[in-house]
Amino acid sequence: MYDLVIVGAGPAGSNLARLIKDKKVLILERRDFSKVDGKSCGGLLNEDTKLFLSRLGISIPKEVVKAPQTQILKAYDMDNSLLASYRKDYLNIDRFEFDKYMLGLVGDNVEVKRASFQDARYSSRGLVVSYLEDGEEKEVECKILVGADGGASKVRKEVFPEKKFSRRYLAVQYDFEKIEDVPYMGAVFSKELTDYYSWFIPKDESIIIGGAFPEGSNVKSKMELLTLMLRARGLVFGEKVSSSGAILIRPSVRSDLFGGESSIALVGESAGLISPSSSEGISFALKSSTALAKAISNNENFFFEAYGKFLNKEWRRIFLKGLKGNLIYSKGLRGAFMKTGLLKIEGI
Ligand SMILES: Cc1cc2nc3c(=O)[nH]c(=O)nc-3n(C[C@H](O)[C@H](O)[C@H](O)COP(=O)(O)OP(=O)(O)OC[C@H]3O[C@@H](n4cnc5c(N)ncnc54)[C@H](O)[C@@H]3O)c2cc1C
Repeated sequence: MYDLVIVGAGPAGSNLARLIKDKKVLILERRDFSKVDGKSCGGLLNEDTKLFLSRLGISIPKEVVKAPQTQILKAYDMDNSLLASYRKDYLNIDRFEFDKYMLGLVGDNVEVKRASFQDARYSSRGLVVSYLEDGEEKEVECKILVGADGGASKVRKEVFPEKKFSRRYLAVQYDFEKIEDVPYMGAVFSKELTDYYSWFIPKDESIIIGGAFPEGSNVKSKMELLTLMLRARGLVFGEKVSSSGAILIRPSVRSDLFGGESSIALVGESAGLISPSSSEGISFALKSSTALAKAISNNENFFFEAYGKFLNKEWRRIFLKGLKGNLIYSKGLRGAFMKTGLLKIEGI
């Protein structure tokens, strides 16, 4: 019997496991960390994330950091034919190496199985969690189950089927060969592509080009159009090397945020925690897992009260980011803001 079973070893799951020191913990993670098996991600840590990592006593080792460490974000407003450059103090990282590093920080009380969560049910002895390991269906008992399994959370879907997200996107990233230095990142706003945004980020030997598209969009043709738009505006890159994708949620109503109930909790993106304006989610994953770890360590039988208070506070943060999103994603307001020159880097 485990005290805690955590599904997912992304930043939320690993940080939670790292902070639960006095209990027997099992992590079920379907990715294979013995080879490069990364989550589709831009790999940019914003100031909030960097600050929170420092508060947690975590410093980023050099193998996680990627070049270039540019501080310039070019915003391409295709709808208004505007281009502006802004200062952004992101840390450019290798997302797979980051996840691997975070998982390496868990203590000896934590066991990790390469396995895929299937379902959970209550029995007289506690919770029974079923999972697939090497193609074989297995079961394990625990006191608390935590879904830290991201935006496409199977824990949320199987255990709380009525808690559907209001808005889901398919985020796709293509990796292209880098053939010349690109000392800036880009954000692209175009109604022809999506009602959200697209981006490019240089990484050592490659350039990631990606976008978030409402589910059901013809993603292949949108990505072709995006790459054409960028080439036409002077971005130089070579052949496509690989592609990846993931479900991205965009919380817009209070019911999107749901931390679970009874002895089953959700944390990170599976709880609906992510910025609806920028899709920045790593700070939310770290903060929510820290709050949940504290709540469980204080009282493993009644942790939802404290965790619920945390989620209410986070909703206020997300709501404000949603308002900011209304400005960014409205053609007229964005155009007017960009023309003011506020926050713009002069001379570029
Ligand atoms: C394309 C894209 C770009 C992004 N760029 C950024 C960025 O630059 N900066 C930023 O801060 N945020 C970014 N985000 C958001 C960020 O990636 C997430 O919000 C963050 O990773 C959430 O962390 P998490 O631990 O909650 O979930 P995840 O990081 O999604 O981790 C979930 C883990 O659960 C595992 N898992 C899933 N299902 C199962 C199962 N059934 N059984 C076992 N294991 C399972 C997965 O393999 C994964 O390891 C981006 C998201 C996308 C899709």
